[in-house]
Amino acid sequence: MKIVLISTYELGHQPFGLASPAASLKAAGASVTCLDLAVEALNDRAIAQADLVAFYLPMHTATRLATSFFERIRRLNPTVHLCCFGLYAPVNEAYLRKLGVDTILGGEFESGLIALMRRLRAKEDGPQREPVIALEKQDFLTPDRSGLPPLSKYAFLDLGDNQPRTVGYTEASRGCKHLCRHCPIVPVYNGRFRVVPQEIVLADIRNQVTAGAQHITFGDPDFFNGPGHALPLIQALHAEFPQLTYDVTIKVEHLLKLAEQLPVLRDTGCLFVTSAVEAVDDQILTILDKGHTRANFIRTALLFRENGLTLNPTFVAFNPWISLAGYIDLLHVIRELDLVEQVAPIQYAIRLLIPAGSRLLELPNVQSLVGAFDEAALFYPWAHPDPQVDQLQQTVLQLVQQSEGKGESRRAIFAQIWQMAYQAYLTAENQPATTPIVPALAPPSFVLVDGNRNFTPRLSEPWYC
Ligand code: SF4
Repeated sequence: MKIVLISTYELGHQPFGLASPAASLKAAGASVTCLDLAVEALNDRAIAQADLVAFYLPMHTATRLATSFFERIRRLNPTVHLCCFGLYAPVNEAYLRKLGVDTILGGEFESGLIALMRRLRAKEDGPQREPVIALEKQDFLTPDRSGLPPLSKYAFLDLGDNQPRTVGYTEASRGCKHLCRHCPIVPVYNGRFRVVPQEIVLADIRNQVTAGAQHITFGDPDFFNGPGHALPLIQALHAEFPQLTYDVTIKVEHLLKLAEQLPVLRDTGCLFVTSAVEAVDDQILTILDKGHTRANFIRTALLFRENGLTLNPTFVAFNPWISLAGYIDLLHVIRELDLVEQVAPIQYAIRLLIPAGSRLLELPNVQSLVGAFDEAALFYPWAHPDPQVDQLQQTVLQLVQQSEGKGESRRAIFAQIWQMAYQAYLTAENQPATTPIVPALAPPSFVLVDGNRNFTPRLSEPWYC
């Protein structure tokens, strides 16, 4: 049985989502070819000879890219069995099936892929029998990265010294025990998470260190969903590789609840923690059901400073509930907490994405806001009640894309956005002259001093959805 596993994009990481099933499928007797189309071309010959082609869909961008390849796959191999697996496969099932996808596997997908392989081997190419969403415990094997492009092809760690460090990527858990309304994990995992055994995670990291990794990104949706798993893991990791650094993603609520563990992160080589702060307006945070408040975020930022740790906050800066004044307020909070160096500029332009199955659709005010599901774009379109906010989002996005292309610093980009936001607010129609949430109306000419002050560790490809 010849299987081709394909990833189209995974934020510049070597995909765990191919390496893990590659190991399981090989152990079950398949011949597996892995293709990461983010860094290599489609291998037409492998596709033409395959019995099964399976696309890994961990995120929105990856899904849209994958669908653009389906026609070519069918042309090269009209009878091949087409499968999509990963987070975005089940929520977009109807559309993917319409495009000719035969099997959809979401959640814990390794066992589903093996079952599919056995079914095809037995010439039972009928309707799908494997569950579309599986959450059962997997028998993980050490991910097989032998067929993937080298780590040097992927995003690197930037410490501001012009010496890029090679980055590896692994996952110690999947899913999440929380139910944030805007999160794409919720429709699939519905408040559950599954761990990868410590010995598998360590073996995977060991292999990547041998392949040159100097830093590891843990791609767990929330590293502190299971602190009893995460903390011994990083301690064991640090004991074996004292020079190795890493980064993780942890929500504000967990960072505060487990504040006494922050020194453990710092002392085991954690260079930064990404945290989905999303907003600084308590009303918006309540709508998103984020489980933290503006005050909680501020407390977390201060705790990080006290502990000598770097916080990498991410935001859904533009959403239907933010006003121009609210956007300025967000910039003020970031500036006052001295987080400008820690926020990737794309975060100032992120617009809320409402994918299929989003819990946001439970809210009457969201139902009345969104249009019909856009199958090709894979989201529910929405327009801000104040078109001037949508206009600002477009201008900020354009600015960020152009400025990053020119290699401008985070401070320089922030200063331009700051001016742009004030300009939009001061010239907009129907805006209150003063507002309690904008702390002070600084003149639009306010510019931050630029420079490489307080450069903080970062990956060369920032996080977004
Ligand atoms: S946003 Fe983060 S904490 Fe919330 S459900 Fe998603 S992964 Fe979990």
